[in-house]
Amino acid sequence: MPELPDVELYCHKINETYGGTELKSIRLLNPFVLRTVEPSPGSLENKTLLRASRLGKRVALEFGDNGPFIVVHLMIAGRFQFKPSGSKPPGRISLAVFEMEKGAIVLTEASKKRRASIHIVADRDELSHLDPGGIDVLSASLAEFSEQIKRENRTLKRALTSPRMFSGIGNAYSDEILHRAKLSPVRLTSSLSDDECRDLQLAAQTTLIEWRNRLIKEFEGRFPGPGDVTAFRPDFAVHGKYGEPCPVCGHKVQRITYAENETNYCAHCQNEGRLLADRSLSRLLKSDWPKKLEDLDSD
Ligand SMILES: [Zn+2]
Repeated sequence: MPELPDVELYCHKINETYGGTELKSIRLLNPFVLRTVEPSPGSLENKTLLRASRLGKRVALEFGDNGPFIVVHLMIAGRFQFKPSGSKPPGRISLAVFEMEKGAIVLTEASKKRRASIHIVADRDELSHLDPGGIDVLSASLAEFSEQIKRENRTLKRALTSPRMFSGIGNAYSDEILHRAKLSPVRLTSSLSDDECRDLQLAAQTTLIEWRNRLIKEFEGRFPGPGDVTAFRPDFAVHGKYGEPCPVCGHKVQRITYAENETNYCAHCQNEGRLLADRSLSRLLKSDWPKKLEDLDSD
């Protein structure tokens, strides 16, 4: 599931190449991908793309300061592919083609489950209804961040990945943030001290900014391919690293598997060396833990 750094990479590449150019046509290869009726896709043709911006985990293509907007939610397996004008989009997995003046942006989804979506909305008011409402950790003050994280008493994993609480953080980056903050994913938000809130905010900001900048630099002068936007990066500290050594302390990275989900953490760095595997944990997981990948990412 593309999260904040991945979505910002896509916005950056779209702006760099297609910003200020016209949308020539929209072709829907799977009619179900479009979830709105008005405005029609045809009404946006020959309009100039002002910019692409991130809305939570969605990409909003802006055709005017007050719209219209094309909003793409990639969900888990949705990706953008960048192709020369008029080239044949990849078979089966292509959902829509945005033909721009300088090339085509193809929305693909390499999954049988069709979850990626496109909404076309007329103005900022309609756009705001698609915003799940989480605050942006990059711009929030410490007071705003602390208030938000304590608004409900939840596990840190659930709080960070809730799109209604924080914008753009999913399963992968929440693991990386909690490892950097040296906090257990099952700690309850109500138990955080002021210092821990500050450490968590700082870890969230530095993790997301570092990865965003790193990805933008990595794809300087070239487009990311579909496999380049991934939740499993070799240089992640803990996410997807079960059984491998923690880069900070060398102890093996642990996991909590529950339903379709895996959370990774270092027991030594994040939980005073204790494994999270007792009965109270399973009770906690039942009551406040994301059960499906979609729970983390669906809005
Ligand atoms: Zn460690």
